[in-house]
Formats: sequence, C-alpha cells, structure tokens
Amino acid sequence: MHKVPFYKPNIPKSTIKRIKSVIDSGWITTGPLVREFESEFGKTIEANRCVAVSSCTAALHLSYIAAGLKPGDEVLIPSFAFCSAINFIIHAGATPVFCDIKEDTLCVDSDDIKRKINKKTKAIVVIHFAGMPADMDAINKIARDNKLVVIEDAAHAFLTKYRGKWIGNSKNYVCFSFYATKNLTTAEGGMISCVTEEQENLLRRLSSHGISKSSIERYGSGNDWEYDVLYPGFKYNMTDIQAAFGMEQLPYAMRAHTKRARLVNLYRKYLSSNENLILPIDPPFEDSEHAWHLFTIRLKSTVKITRDELIKKLKESGIGTSVHFIPYHTQTLYKKLSHYPQKLPITERVYNSILTLPLYENLTETDIRCIVGALNKWAK
Ligand SMILES: *Cc1c(COP(=O)(O)O)cnc(C)c1O
Repeated sequence: MHKVPFYKPNIPKSTIKRIKSVIDSGWITTGPLVREFESEFGKTIEANRCVAVSSCTAALHLSYIAAGLKPGDEVLIPSFAFCSAINFIIHAGATPVFCDIKEDTLCVDSDDIKRKINKKTKAIVVIHFAGMPADMDAINKIARDNKLVVIEDAAHAFLTKYRGKWIGNSKNYVCFSFYATKNLTTAEGGMISCVTEEQENLLRRLSSHGISKSSIERYGSGNDWEYDVLYPGFKYNMTDIQAAFGMEQLPYAMRAHTKRARLVNLYRKYLSSNENLILPIDPPFEDSEHAWHLFTIRLKSTVKITRDELIKKLKESGIGTSVHFIPYHTQTLYKKLSHYPQKLPITERVYNSILTLPLYENLTETDIRCIVGALNKWAK
C-alpha cells in the first residue's frame, strides 16, 4: 500500500551546519542570529518591525497585553480557529464573543463583527484561515470607526498576500507561527510584526521578564550586569538555535510557496470531476494570494458517506488527514464561559463537512493521485 502521511517537514540539510556554528559560537540562546532572522523575515514580508518569540501562542498573548486588554473587555473572534488565540483572552479576564465566518473564504464575517460590537468591545482577532486572507479592508474600517485594536492570527499566513501587500505589512499586531507543521518552521517559534518603536520595545521587554535589557546586552561583549524590571513580563524568547532553522528556510520560502500552489492545482485538476466536493477557492480580492498552508475540502450534502467515516476509510488506505478546526463554541470550556447564546450556522455547517488533505513540499504527484483515487472511491 502506498502510504501518504498527513505531514512531513522539509528541513534543508544545511540547517545542521548552521546549528553547529551556533553551538560553536558559545552563544546558544537569544543572540545575534535571532536579530538577523527578525530582520530577514521582516524584509521578506515588508513588515515594519518584527519581534521573535517562542511561539505564535506567546505572540498572541503579548499582543493582547500590548493592546491593553483588561477584565470586562469583550473581544470579537471567529469560533472557527485554534484554541491558542482564545485562552489568553480568558486569562486577561476578558470575554470572547464568537463571530461566524464567510461561506466562501472561511474567514471571519465582517458583517457579523459589526452586529456584535457594543460599548465593551475592545479588540478584533482575525484568523487568515488555511492561508486565505481575511477581508482586512472591511475589518480595519470597522476597527477605525469603533476605535478597536486588530490582532491578526497569521499562523497560516506566511506569504499570504492581501490587495498587493503581504500579511504582516499592516498597522495591526500580526502573529506568525513557526511550529513544526507550519509553512516556515523553527520546530517551535513565533514572530510578532508591529508598527511603532514603542510597540516593539514593549513586546521585546515583555518577552524577556519585562526587564530593561536583553541577555546579550547583559552577558555579551558589554557584560553589563545591571538591569531594571519595568513590567511583569514572561519568558517567551526565541533562541539562536531556533533562528538557525528559520534562516536556512527563508531563502527557499518563495520556491516552497510556488510548489504548494502547484500541488493545489494538481488536486483541483484531479478532483474537479467529483461533484460531491467543494474545493477551496483563490482569494476573492484583487492582487491577493493564498499561502496554501492547508488544503481543505468540504463534502456536499449529496455525498453518501459522513466526514468521520471518510476519515476512517482514508486512514485504512494509508492516507493521513485532519480537521481544521473544531469550533471554540462547541468545546466544554467555552460553552461554560460564554455569556452569549451562540448561533453560528455557517461555522457549524462547515465544521461538520470539512476535511484537510496532505499538502507539503515533498508531496509527489503519485501521492496526490493515490489520495484522489481513494477520495473518488469513497466520497460518492
Ligand atoms: C499553529 C497555530 C497557532 C499556534 O501556534 P504555536 O506557534 O504552536 O503557538 C495559532 N493559531 C493557529 C490558527 C494555528 O494554526
């Protein structure tokens, strides 16, 4: 049986050499290579300022603090997302208010955001689902009109383009993930892009105990032992070893992006004749690009098999799949916490019919033919 795993990372062999040079340098934690990675990453997406952290979850947490989220505030967030974006809203003592998504892009519906704004609303969290850009012009306008902060969960959106600009090149806090399965990986890691020097300094300090100096300033060549604690901060720094992974992948990022888009077109070609499937679309905005982090398909109501049975059948055929996402508002914790009656019809319909297929640089045409063959056999 030809097996196709759900994911296989593609780490350039040269990474080992770069990691060795970090170890040989005697400085393995946050140091010069993290700074270089921030700068190169920032150049790639034309971001203003970038701060590297230990994960996207940490990036989101720090963004909420920098945005001044406090007890009693309400935060608008799509329910169709990963739980890391929401947990720190709750830790801040704020209330998540769930919004529905758009049927075509599966990103948050700006009309539903508008309907749910009240005096307590403080921020909007946006997720660029699977690498599809959310409709940022509409969302940024709502934010400006209502004086709200926008935080973008861009875990899927490295090299997503929206109306001529990369995601990360905006006035918002934009949080990226370099988790093992993401389009650019440092095993674990994250990045926040922001606009002002003040925001950058605050985020940097918060990521390192809230103290006035970085560890390289204290223990590097200056060896300046003094520091001052300015905020109750966290330990969310990225290490030079992680940055070594990122630095070795960045030069190939555009090539990998093109490869994924080509694989998506193969899927589309082979699956277009199956009338029981809804395939993902390209961004419905001018001069925009999907990052193709995930390739998700949906089953139409005409199909005889359920989504869960289909996953089982594909697994028996040696094909790994997944489901993104189990909506927040259906999970035990959030059902208890939520103050609002939640009716999110599109989110629920999409969740029950969606399935993520393998998509990564090393996927071959043979792999895709094998997946498509199994799908056409079972999704009838
Ligand atoms: C992966 C992911 C995260 C979390 O990223 P980490 O770097 O693992 O903290 C957050 N949001 C979304 C949408 C994700 O897919």
